[in-house]
Amino acid sequence: MEILLGQVLRYAGDPMVEGPGAARHDRHGAVAIEAGRIVDLGPAEAVLARFPQARRTDLGARLISAGFVDAHVHYPQTAIIASWGKRLIDWLNTYTFPEEMRFADPAYAAEIASRYLDLALAHGTTSMCSYATIHSSSVDAFMGEAARRGMRALAGRTCMDRDTAPAGLRDSAQAAYDESKSLLTRWHGRDRLGYVITPRFSPTSTPDQLLALGSLWAEHPECLMQTHLSEQVDEIAWVKSLYPAARDYLDTYETFGLLGENGVYGHAIHLEPREIARLREVGAGLAHCPTSNSFIGSGLFDTAGLSAAGLRIGLATDTGGGSSFSMLRTMAAAYEIGQLRRGALHPAALWYLATLGAAQVLRIDHAVGNIAVGMEADLIAVDLASTPAIAQRAERAGDVWEALFPTIMMGDDRAIAGVWVAGRRMK
Ligand SMILES: [Zn+2]
Repeated sequence: MEILLGQVLRYAGDPMVEGPGAARHDRHGAVAIEAGRIVDLGPAEAVLARFPQARRTDLGARLISAGFVDAHVHYPQTAIIASWGKRLIDWLNTYTFPEEMRFADPAYAAEIASRYLDLALAHGTTSMCSYATIHSSSVDAFMGEAARRGMRALAGRTCMDRDTAPAGLRDSAQAAYDESKSLLTRWHGRDRLGYVITPRFSPTSTPDQLLALGSLWAEHPECLMQTHLSEQVDEIAWVKSLYPAARDYLDTYETFGLLGENGVYGHAIHLEPREIARLREVGAGLAHCPTSNSFIGSGLFDTAGLSAAGLRIGLATDTGGGSSFSMLRTMAAAYEIGQLRRGALHPAALWYLATLGAAQVLRIDHAVGNIAVGMEADLIAVDLASTPAIAQRAERAGDVWEALFPTIMMGDDRAIAGVWVAGRRMK
């Protein structure tokens, strides 16, 4: 058994609904871990008294939190992150599709999967939900590397069969069904891994392919389904031209069985009232990707409004359309977008959206995203004075939120002083 000593931050409720009082903070706290799980927590003195023989790791004033959960990433875009000057459709054609072609080579896929997961862990992200490419071996590469690190990770083969995608990245409705089913059988529930049924988005799939993936999801409702929704205004017009009978963008999924409570819809910026109502009715999750939305010029996600409407929301980097691997930078961008929409998100809410909120969207909140007895020990230790600029501001802090906010706004991987995956220290 190991006892981590430090400040401990966890959640007893949803601060988007209940305010910062939903968080629990122990200035001198402890988390006891054994066999990969959290077995005790509370004030340091009490936990130490219960387990006097346990090994102690004193993290001083560092903040112990659940590891970050990233609700939407494209690991194959790791090497093209921060590419200049394009909006969504041009971005895909100029940067994304040529790079994804390279994943036909399994060795390249393994190299990038390993690079991405190391970068994610260094930034404190212990779980994520990733798109792979059209190549089944790109899923095998990601799952293999995640399993080797003992991570709770989710991914799926990105299906495209319409001529809007380049020839080298197209399959067919039948191939999408067959390959996805075979990957699902191979990976879902193995170790800590989950398979995600993944049509890229309706403009790159035919109705036949969406229907085939909708049938697969109906056969395996235990799996997540992830896709993109209403990211840019031009894209929405394009979807309407390709699906003239659809009531709205969401309808292009709903019609083919791709709307449900285990659905994760990335972006969801320019939603119509019917779409919001349907997403709430079925209990679907939204992945808010704020650095991507400002970087690609997509628009301003309405975190406060959609949360108040009853939708589940998790934060996401959208690597590499997003401009950072860091969930700290992602929280900062979510805060800035909230300000532009006249709603300042409290640090308790930002941190929640990057941990338990994202875990709830990915349906892994029974295991990760919070600190509680019985949960898996995916934890981080955050240095709240990781640079001189942050340190001099945090020094003035009157409470934990004032101490944490400079790290949210100005922090990066230097603030991540420790990372534990299933109780094993990775950083
Ligand atoms: Zn995306």
